Amino acid sequence: MFTVKRLSIILFASLLLACGDDGVSESESSIAVTKKAVVNWKLVTTWPKNFPGLGTAPENFAKLVDRMSNGRLKIKVYGAGEVVPALETFSAVSSGTVQMGHGAAYYWKGKAPAAVFFTAVPFGLNAQEMNGWLHYGGGLELWREVYAPFNLLPFAGGSTGVQMAGWFNREINSLDDFKGLKMRIPGLGGEVFTRAGGTSVSMPGGEIFTSLQTGVIDAAEWVAPYNDLAFGFHNVVKYYYYPGWHEPGAMLEFIVNQQAYNALPDDLQAIVEGATRAINQDMLDEYTARNNAALVDLRQKGVQIKPLPDDVVQALRSISAEVIQENVERDAMFSKVFDSFDSFRKNVVDYHKISEEAYYKIREGDSLID
Ligand code: CA
Repeated sequence: MFTVKRLSIILFASLLLACGDDGVSESESSIAVTKKAVVNWKLVTTWPKNFPGLGTAPENFAKLVDRMSNGRLKIKVYGAGEVVPALETFSAVSSGTVQMGHGAAYYWKGKAPAAVFFTAVPFGLNAQEMNGWLHYGGGLELWREVYAPFNLLPFAGGSTGVQMAGWFNREINSLDDFKGLKMRIPGLGGEVFTRAGGTSVSMPGGEIFTSLQTGVIDAAEWVAPYNDLAFGFHNVVKYYYYPGWHEPGAMLEFIVNQQAYNALPDDLQAIVEGATRAINQDMLDEYTARNNAALVDLRQKGVQIKPLPDDVVQALRSISAEVIQENVERDAMFSKVFDSFDSFRKNVVDYHKISEEAYYKIREGDSLID
């Protein structure tokens, strides 16, 4: 009995020594501290606070991360202008003023011309194809290469699907009707529109309505029925053209300051990655459902919904090819990303002709043979 009791005392004493004062071992203690540590991040956006779809996506992201991390990663979302103006999102995350941003890569083409590929390229990939290229076709690796000099880690941050060509204060019957038009249209689409005879302007969404209303601009592209209805453009202009030749599958972005990301433990990094991926798909699902109802509403409000004339589309198509080629010749990184994007596009178009496109035809009773 004595021996057993003595042995127990020795064992208990050595356990105490190993565990420290609170009876928790050193390794358990560091795990407990890590689990309790709360990381607070700020996320700035290029959208008005809680704007449908675009602005609610980062809010949904923050809520999801909070739940997935059991409250260990808290992300506070700010709308455009609350911490920095919309178009300073990139710089604010790059410099570490804030840890995250949500916006669209093509806003930053002045800093990195190749950024346009990660939002939209005229006559380029649709949403489904963009997701395929980014996640299984080498696109995301190239995006990371383009953003690395800016200390930024990008993730796909939602897609709106095919957008609309935009709102015009006059009918568009030929390319001549673009002459003298001042239009809000960012990215490569803007370069093409300018080459087609108009003047392109890049401004954040929150400034479009007033600019249209006061005649600062004559036309504007924003997104599609769900978002355009929310801004009320139908109250100031009545011609709404389709399709969005310039933004066939506009992809948005989450950007993370590289040091802030590196400082996260591996599980929180995985949560950020997984949550961006979930929100990326969720936004496309939401637009797919909500654009339809908004289109009905816009029709009821008397908006004239018109297709761009064939010769206008053909002209925009050839000008787009010229503009892209000039960018390829001017910028080595643009050229590198274009090679990947264009080879993916050729292959996916080849397959989608006999899958997606063929199905769209038979669904409507059209013949598979032109
Ligand atoms: Ca747009």
